[in-house]
Amino acid sequence: MKVLKFGGTSVANAINIKKVASIVFKDQPEKLIVVVSAFSGVTDLLLKASSFASTGDYQYKEIHQGIEKAHLYCIKELVALQKQSAVLSEIKQLCNELEELLDGIYKLQELSPKTRDKVVSFGELMSSRIIAAYFSDLSAEAAWVDSRELIKTDSKFGYANVLKSFTDENIALYFKAAKARVFVAPGFIASNSNGNTTTLGRGGSDYTAAIFASALKVKSLEIWTDVSGMMTADPRVVTNAKPIAYLTYKEAMELSHFGAKVIYPPTIQPVMDLEIPTAIKNTFKPEDAGTLLLSDYSNGSDRIKGISSINKVAILTLEGSGMVGIPGFSKLLFEALANDHINVILITQSSSEHSITVAINEHDSLRAKVAIDSVFDNYIEKGIIYPVEIESDMAIIAVVGDKMKSMPGTSGLMFSTLGKNGINIRAIAQGSSERNISAVISNADIKKAVNVLHEVFFEASKKQLNIFVSGVGNVGKKLLQQISRQKQYLADKHNVQLNVIGVANSRKMLVKPIGILENDFEKELGEYGHTSDVEKFTDEIIALNLRNSVFIDCTAHAEVARTYAKLIKKSVSVVACNKIAASAGYWEYLELKHLSNIYNAPFLFETNVGAALPIIGTLNDLIKTGDVVNKIQAVLSGTLNFVFNNYDGTKPFSEVVRQAQAEGFTEPDPRLDLGGTDVMRKILILAREAGYALNMEDIDNNGFLPASCFDGSVEDFYKEMSIQEAHFKAIYDKAAANGCKLKFVATFDNGKANVGLQEIPENHDLYNLFGKDNIVLFYTNRYPEQPLVIKGAGAGADVTASGVFADMMRVASH
Ligand code: ADP
Ligand code: ASP
Ligand code: MG
Repeated sequence: MKVLKFGGTSVANAINIKKVASIVFKDQPEKLIVVVSAFSGVTDLLLKASSFASTGDYQYKEIHQGIEKAHLYCIKELVALQKQSAVLSEIKQLCNELEELLDGIYKLQELSPKTRDKVVSFGELMSSRIIAAYFSDLSAEAAWVDSRELIKTDSKFGYANVLKSFTDENIALYFKAAKARVFVAPGFIASNSNGNTTTLGRGGSDYTAAIFASALKVKSLEIWTDVSGMMTADPRVVTNAKPIAYLTYKEAMELSHFGAKVIYPPTIQPVMDLEIPTAIKNTFKPEDAGTLLLSDYSNGSDRIKGISSINKVAILTLEGSGMVGIPGFSKLLFEALANDHINVILITQSSSEHSITVAINEHDSLRAKVAIDSVFDNYIEKGIIYPVEIESDMAIIAVVGDKMKSMPGTSGLMFSTLGKNGINIRAIAQGSSERNISAVISNADIKKAVNVLHEVFFEASKKQLNIFVSGVGNVGKKLLQQISRQKQYLADKHNVQLNVIGVANSRKMLVKPIGILENDFEKELGEYGHTSDVEKFTDEIIALNLRNSVFIDCTAHAEVARTYAKLIKKSVSVVACNKIAASAGYWEYLELKHLSNIYNAPFLFETNVGAALPIIGTLNDLIKTGDVVNKIQAVLSGTLNFVFNNYDGTKPFSEVVRQAQAEGFTEPDPRLDLGGTDVMRKILILAREAGYALNMEDIDNNGFLPASCFDGSVEDFYKEMSIQEAHFKAIYDKAAANGCKLKFVATFDNGKANVGLQEIPENHDLYNLFGKDNIVLFYTNRYPEQPLVIKGAGAGADVTASGVFADMMRVASH
């Protein structure tokens, strides 16, 4: 004999019920009990209707009509025309009874738990009646059986306790005498000793099936549902969740207790006691293996089998010196909760015995506080215990696996992973069986937490990097092109999955959790983007709370730089080619570095100096390994280098500048380059990264632009440069006459920095510098006379984008 249970989705409509029949009648000559749930969603609707009726809201009528219509329609689709009338009148009669009951509730405006159980029982009563009629139509051996008469419970309506031995006997006697082969029984419902209908708790049809299975000591129990087994995590939360082939009963119990809804927790005990093999299978993919629950599965090597979570949790903390060493303290606490029927989900006590924390359902929290505070009234008055503290909006995440006890490091990996992702842990509990480690975290972090843990325990092979790009002009656009080209390679060879989730330019922004196509971002931004708002963009990133998030700033805006601290505090890494933050006030720069350390979110800006050249990285390595930088000499402006390498008086100076801008070397306002500010920022950043507390005011700027060039717009600037052509020509001629080239040089020496145009003679290190190249000379304790030299292209959208890309990959391997 076997018991098969089909859940709400499996019996949602005629098409699905036909699938159920094909499973039930597929070459199974043995006796079967088929336990069914209400049609999908009907239990919720019945609860809603009863609550409407009890508050005098007439909407219950509409719900009732909808339920009736759906069931009658299903009969017409399922049962042969000539056999329909009996079942139609049966269901019609049930619907009338239900209506009378709801009318009664409406009149009295009162809804007792007993009446509520009666109302919800109609879901399973109707579904099972219809399925039994359909099965009888298919086979003469089918019959309906009333679970209420066989399963006996106490009178705890809504969550009744089964009177086990009485029920077992009842069931055994009934099936011994019964003649049919396929019995269809309603799940979820039972009755008390007075014959009143009771229910076994939401999701209780699984339990009904287990009760039949254990009473009859059947060969196997099959739970047929809408997923292919118990999965490594809730598939609605983790897209990469996969079915678990084998689980011990105890593992399944832990997972379901902590939220794996696919099986109702009380279901497992009866089948575990008798070691009845239990399978979880998919009605819509019967060929899939599903999950098998066994008493011992020692062949597997996975230390973790699954991750589950529950939300709507509150934690209560009782704290105070009065608790230390007083025996019976916890007894009082738990008695107070038990007397008020408050279920405790998790308990932790600090080893100092100074505080005890329990997790309970959020909706019980006020009752719990009142109950506990009144028990400890005396102590609270004396000030040796504080009134109970409640924290709501919490959730519990649990990793489960029998094998973790023999494999050290599981909790280390769990907590370091949560920590790295900025997820704060409020309380921790590990069952003494070492089968489960649970942590209490904020509700807002739950999705992220389940996903990061799933990633490390089950998908270690592929790390997801979630990318948000602000500024998709020159550099940002190139970056997206590079990501698109490189994505597959990185996934295949480096196990990093790049997901571009958000893009923003100065006009529009778009955040799309399923990902934006890098090559099509302009179209998507145009069609689905909203008006840009820097604050809103970052708020959306924070609200999404995705793991391994990285914010890329390819703008030159101060308001974007101002969002970094907020992002880093939420563990979002920041990669900037925008120099404003790193060259802002010294304390602001230092604070970002500090936050980045505390929140474990890299803040990287290699492209701030010399585009993709490894300048800041090299400098960091020198400092980390104990070197001291004494002097830096550098040509750091690709723009100025390009301009002075191309200007010899034949073409006007302003035109050479325009060409540099057209090639994408300059800042949006080229005066930042020509006026020296950009170079000042760069030498400032280098000095800071070398460990010196410098500010912009500490840098001398010996600029060469006439003051008149700084007035007005960028276009005015071009005009003014034409007017000043003689000035530029004179500077050039003087250097040429001395056999020198003009270089805009930044120097840091002896704690002081300056920038300015210099005439560089032929034998100088800085002389042979072509096109838009940059060069940096580091004079350090290890490189005292011959400096460490880094030289190469220091500007251009493509190289800068590649430098940003490299920083992003540094975040990925962080
Ligand atoms: P039924 O109506 O068949 O009893 P349920 O809705 O009660 O089905 O349970 C199945 C659902 O449980 C799945 O559709 C899935 O969304 C959810 N679920 C949550 N956690 C898990 C998990 N770890 N494995 C499988 N399913 C899960
Ligand atoms: N129909 C009930 C519920 O929705 C029982 C079940 O489906 O298991 O909770
Ligand atoms: Mg269920």
